[in-house]
Amino acid sequence: MRYVILSDIHANHEALTAVLDRAKDLAVDRYICLGDIVGYGASPEAAVELVRELDAIVVLGNHDSAVLDEREAFAFNRQARDAVSWTRSHLSEESRAYLGNLPLVHRLDSILCVHASPSRPAKWSYLLNAAATVNQFTAFSEQLCLVGHTHCPLIVKMTEYGPTALKGPTEWLAVDGRYIINVGSVGQPRDGDPRAAFGLLDSDDGVITILRVEYDAAAARERIISAGLPTLLGDRLLDGS
Ligand code: ZN
Repeated sequence: MRYVILSDIHANHEALTAVLDRAKDLAVDRYICLGDIVGYGASPEAAVELVRELDAIVVLGNHDSAVLDEREAFAFNRQARDAVSWTRSHLSEESRAYLGNLPLVHRLDSILCVHASPSRPAKWSYLLNAAATVNQFTAFSEQLCLVGHTHCPLIVKMTEYGPTALKGPTEWLAVDGRYIINVGSVGQPRDGDPRAAFGLLDSDDGVITILRVEYDAAAARERIISAGLPTLLGDRLLDGS
């Protein structure tokens, strides 16, 4: 199976359409979306509609959850909270219901899909590097765990010396190896590379590739500012910060 993995779209229509355009050439069998379809960006309804059209495997992200339940936004910074309130009033009942039905975790044969961490999916912890995954591998039995949430690509293999970060962007997965993989963010990359990030997993050949796609970040920024959302949320798209 060839899976295209999307995460942290964050209501960025320009980035999502650029990624889906690129994915058309990748002979995709199935799409996986690791949550945070909405929040931060100015196109929440369009983002939800596009994801629904993909008939993807989708899990809930913390921003999706915060749009549905105000208490979830408690720990957010000011800009994120403002964006959540804005999103709440710019999302149809149908799209809210769709988000409300998303599970925290989805299990495929050898793959666990979760937004933040396998050990405590609803606690939204950040697996920012290999060291942060040290207690995570015992929390799932599958070969692969796909996560998002940090907006930074990371491929970690469990070795006899502990979890080790691999270089990427393409890695061949050992049949008996176990991995935690973050393919980065479609709509708000934070690794200093402003291009939209997504993943292609070929589960038969055992290959994961993290791809980057140029998109019109200036247009996405303009849309955020015109919507009255915090300017910072637009600016950061230009430098991937
Ligand atoms: Zn996110």
